[in-house]
Amino acid sequence: MRRTRNAKIVATLGPASSDPETVRRLFLAGVDVFRLNFSHGSADDHRARFAILRELEQRTGRPIGILADLQGPKLRVGTFQDGPVMLVEGQAFRLDLDPAPGDARRAGLPHPEIFAALVPGAELLLDDGRLRLVVEECGPDFAQTRVAVGGWLSERKGVNVPSVVLPITALTAKDRRDLALALELGADWIALSFVQRPEDVAEARALIEGRAAIVAKLEKPQAIERLDEIVALSDAIMVARGDLGVELPAERVPALQKRIVRSCRHLGKPVIVATQMLESMVSAPVPTRAEASDVATAIYDGADAVMLSAESASGKHPVEAVDMMNRIIQQVETDPLYRQLIDASHSAARVGSDAAEGICCAMRRAVAVIRAAAIVCCTSSGHTSLRAARERPESPILSLTPHVATARRLALAWGMHSVHAADVEDVAQMSEAACDAARREGFAQPGQMIVAIAGMPFGTPGTTNLLRIATV
Ligand code: PGA
Ligand code: MN
Repeated sequence: MRRTRNAKIVATLGPASSDPETVRRLFLAGVDVFRLNFSHGSADDHRARFAILRELEQRTGRPIGILADLQGPKLRVGTFQDGPVMLVEGQAFRLDLDPAPGDARRAGLPHPEIFAALVPGAELLLDDGRLRLVVEECGPDFAQTRVAVGGWLSERKGVNVPSVVLPITALTAKDRRDLALALELGADWIALSFVQRPEDVAEARALIEGRAAIVAKLEKPQAIERLDEIVALSDAIMVARGDLGVELPAERVPALQKRIVRSCRHLGKPVIVATQMLESMVSAPVPTRAEASDVATAIYDGADAVMLSAESASGKHPVEAVDMMNRIIQQVETDPLYRQLIDASHSAARVGSDAAEGICCAMRRAVAVIRAAAIVCCTSSGHTSLRAARERPESPILSLTPHVATARRLALAWGMHSVHAADVEDVAQMSEAACDAARREGFAQPGQMIVAIAGMPFGTPGTTNLLRIATV
């Protein structure tokens, strides 16, 4: 089966969407990559979802990507003696390492690393930024603060500290356990939350040892300061607008989203725009017009994928949300303005890049000139296919790969359709395999031209050096 759009849909599984029938309906409605959120759910929940997804893949024959999203160093306040407390603007409020339940004067904050990094004047944001505290005095085990924006605070609410780089790794002890499980189950992508530095990505990569590809979630201001380095070190990027819009003022999110998408497109790394895209569909059967427009904007910007979180994980209309996203994407991609905007925001291939990028740069022109029905990439690691996607060509990209893991990873990339195929031995075989696949998968009719890309010697990764035009 094939889809007829370039941009991909990532949907999160949760309590509203974990039975085999709902997962199947989500897939049929258009999900390309399923996200398992390790902030919630037990090991058994994740295990069961993996089993459902792999079985579905088996039945449909279409490679499905599975993205395991690690919680990361999400900071939280402790518990309260008598339920939620009211913090009033101007009052003093103390945070400390004492595990005793808190009250309206103090609360526990079981993170010594925060106290170590705080300085007077620093701001602490509580409960998705709804409450705001300013540090007046602090030590290794406490912070005396003043309430700048008050409100009700209940236990275990999240804490963000935007102004300081916290001396913490992007992988907590829980993340390491979850990572081991995700790799054991065979996740295709691992998402790292609250990445602050390029070193955070490098650390995860050393642990993962190539068993999965890495998505760095951009949700900290410190990560934005080193954006290009982090994009270069990651395999893909998520614009995690939820926490990003708490760590930074919400009005800065749109411009950052555009900058991140641009940087990713320049470097040829898949980029996912995430969070609150169709938020009102958590409870309503239709989105707001503003939400429909938000999804459309990400597609016009050339993002590889758009993502659903609560809408598909815990909302009342998971399948309708995917269906709506699918329809918005298809509508945008058939607008003549879409191609103009994609071309206008395309950055030329980078001088000094590798052969794959050079070949794909030629491919982009060739495809437009001969109106090729499809581009067929013979790829082992998926590298060549990602170079092809970087070009945002006018024809769909069909990846032939002998590795199912590569096919699954590529499910996230713009314009990509992957099929499992045996290695070929010479140019004639390669042309034949490319034409057959294009016809069989519904991309080309007999008599139409395709552009095939491969490397000789065949079967050796990293050898991309061949562009061939063939008639089906
Ligand atoms: P989360 O990440 O849903 O894991 O918090 C996405 C975001 O912050 O936008
Ligand atoms: Mn987040």
